[in-house]
Amino acid sequence: MKAVQRDKGTFLVLGIDAATWAVVNANLSKLSNFERLIKLGKSKVITLTEKPISASIWCGMFSGKLFTEHKHESYVVNGDIVKRADINVDFIWDILHARGKNVKALNVPFVVPPYSFNVDFKPIGFGLPTNEKEWGEELERVTEKTKELLVVEKPDLLIAVYTFLDRIQHFHWGEDYVVEWYERMDEKVGELIFDTGFLDGNNKLIVISDHGFCSFGEAKVQTLPEYTKDGQLKGDHHEDAFLVTVNVDYEVERPQDVFFAIEEEIV
Ligand SMILES: [Zn+2]
Repeated sequence: MKAVQRDKGTFLVLGIDAATWAVVNANLSKLSNFERLIKLGKSKVITLTEKPISASIWCGMFSGKLFTEHKHESYVVNGDIVKRADINVDFIWDILHARGKNVKALNVPFVVPPYSFNVDFKPIGFGLPTNEKEWGEELERVTEKTKELLVVEKPDLLIAVYTFLDRIQHFHWGEDYVVEWYERMDEKVGELIFDTGFLDGNNKLIVISDHGFCSFGEAKVQTLPEYTKDGQLKGDHHEDAFLVTVNVDYEVERPQDVFFAIEEEIV
């Protein structure tokens, strides 16, 4: 007897670089889609035990490896840009693709420009968007591409990452300006997750950041010099990252668990 193939739906990992609980919680009344998402799913503060460095954390999240294993921390080493091929790991998209799954990843910032897999996507500002125009452009283009893939293609796994909040918070931490961008992000979360009906079926969702943010002087690890060509930094990375999951049984306690959660759900 032929087994009936159950539609397992799509597993969406929405990465929001530097999304911070402190900002979300303090502004929930303005962030109605985040509020709805938090009510619907399981939320958690992920307190990193590794250094809160974007390249390293995103790399660990999708390879399941600790920094001591993947050894990738910087976008540039000895003046050379680190490429995907320089990092000796199999990512979840490599593994699942080899198993015949339909896997798409776009704008994953473990390298610059951010990495895409099976998706034609041109990163904005070489993956380091530095002004308002580029931040808005990234928000729009990542959203449009992600929506198109979710609605039309319905892959087994879709990973999409926004990088702009990291840049904005470095330069504007503590200003209302940051909250305005969280509101713009919130609108897109609504478009992607709720307006598409994505959560009406048996789809699975992880919304996660690689680290949070805090005032520049309060950060345990300084990730950039205080004075850059784009201005003085007001914020830096904090070890508390953002996580909300919906329909995911695997307990995500650290970034690497995203890899294992996906592997367990997509077989
Ligand atoms: Zn980051």
